[in-house]
Amino acid sequence: METEDDWMRPPPKLRYMKCNTVLNVPKAALDGTVALLRRVRQLESGVLWYGRRDQVGNCVVDYVVAPKQKMHWGNYLISTQALSQVVARLPEGSKPLAQIHSHPSTRVEHSNYDDRMIVTRRALSIVFPNYGHWTSPFPHGLGIHESQNDYWYLLDDATATQRVVITPAGNVKIEDFR
Ligand SMILES: [Zn+2]
Repeated sequence: METEDDWMRPPPKLRYMKCNTVLNVPKAALDGTVALLRRVRQLESGVLWYGRRDQVGNCVVDYVVAPKQKMHWGNYLISTQALSQVVARLPEGSKPLAQIHSHPSTRVEHSNYDDRMIVTRRALSIVFPNYGHWTSPFPHGLGIHESQNDYWYLLDDATATQRVVITPAGNVKIEDFR
């Protein structure tokens, strides 16, 4: 069976261009995501963040959902149908803001498999290590990726801290369809 670690990606040809917009993530959304990833024990799983994007491009997460999916120790698969079920229930104006998934180890860079599995390039892609058993200060130990120039850049911690901000308050709905 193909697992993610089988193929390393080539390095980017162009440099990452710093982005001035911020993805705001209520602490409840981060905690809820970790809980969803851990719940399936020793399986990779995918979680999606939805919310609002303002005219400038700053975003706020207000919905965390684990779609119906196939989960294995080394990869996961959300079908087009399962994704459509989630999208059909979204409130008007809700946008996909990040695609999250877990990895079995501390390696959190995208695999080639991940590059192919992305729902939308306008959202960030965040990889959690150790099937969601992560307790470091944000964003240390996470793989936060942004798509530019047809490449998913793994952001360093300083860049990720500016791009994704954890906020203490905020209403978040959390659902699990697995
Ligand atoms: Zn992956």
